[in-house]
Amino acid sequence: MNDLEQSCLEQFRKDLVQFEIKLTQQQEEQFIRYYEMLTEWNEVMNLTAITEFEEVLKKHFVDSLSLVKAWDAIREKRVSVIDVGTGAGFPGIPLKIAFPQIRLTLLDSLQKRIRFLNELIAELGLQEVETIHGRAEDFAAPSKKREQYDLCVSRAVANLSTLSELCLPYVKEGGLFISYKSEKVAEEAKTAEHAISVLGGKIEGQKEFFLPDSDIYRNLFVIRKIRNTPKKYPRKAGAPAKDPLK
Ligand code: SAM
Repeated sequence: MNDLEQSCLEQFRKDLVQFEIKLTQQQEEQFIRYYEMLTEWNEVMNLTAITEFEEVLKKHFVDSLSLVKAWDAIREKRVSVIDVGTGAGFPGIPLKIAFPQIRLTLLDSLQKRIRFLNELIAELGLQEVETIHGRAEDFAAPSKKREQYDLCVSRAVANLSTLSELCLPYVKEGGLFISYKSEKVAEEAKTAEHAISVLGGKIEGQKEFFLPDSDIYRNLFVIRKIRNTPKKYPRKAGAPAKDPLK
């Protein structure tokens, strides 16, 4: 590793101190290998627009781990977590590396991204990680993954109303859905409020902050599942995005 990369890594460690996360050497190596595989595979398939080491550390890894600001309990609980529309594994894989006791499902509708994730999981030696190739609308059936998770996370997939229909069906009663947003969501939240309630959720709060040592704004939107989601949701594939619940 050259001097520049070393100093990026130093900054990464410092950023994580702000989240009270201290990685072991093995975990740090897993993050570095993740970066390497991400950029290698990115040359032959579209995984990420961000490829500089420094930026990947901040905008993908630190950002994914910022979840602790909204839900500190992920540090030690053996919770089941699903990442809907995970793409190249964000935020699910960084959470799994930092908190290896979680049981993780990664879901995405693009086969090639799932192929990348399967290779990555094997290479990093991650245990209790399942990948699902499919649409979120199709795997929330009672015979599949409906209401099986303590926590559902999702970043950069859809507006809050659409996302709630895709994500809340996966969450157990009493569990949480946390959406990573990068803009002020007051308007979006207002529009989605009724949809969230129809789907069995209740807005519990939001955590707004800047990522450590940066001007990157982040908003974690926290929704509690308080009732089972009515059977008719999610609607058939495509409908939640085309015609978001109001
Ligand atoms: N969450 C990742 C991140 O933050 O880097 C990926 C974000 S990418 C912009 C959106 C991802 O969501 C894509 O990989 C896409 O295939 C997936 N996606 C969109 N709609 C989906 C759906 N209905 N079911 C499953 N995956 C979906």
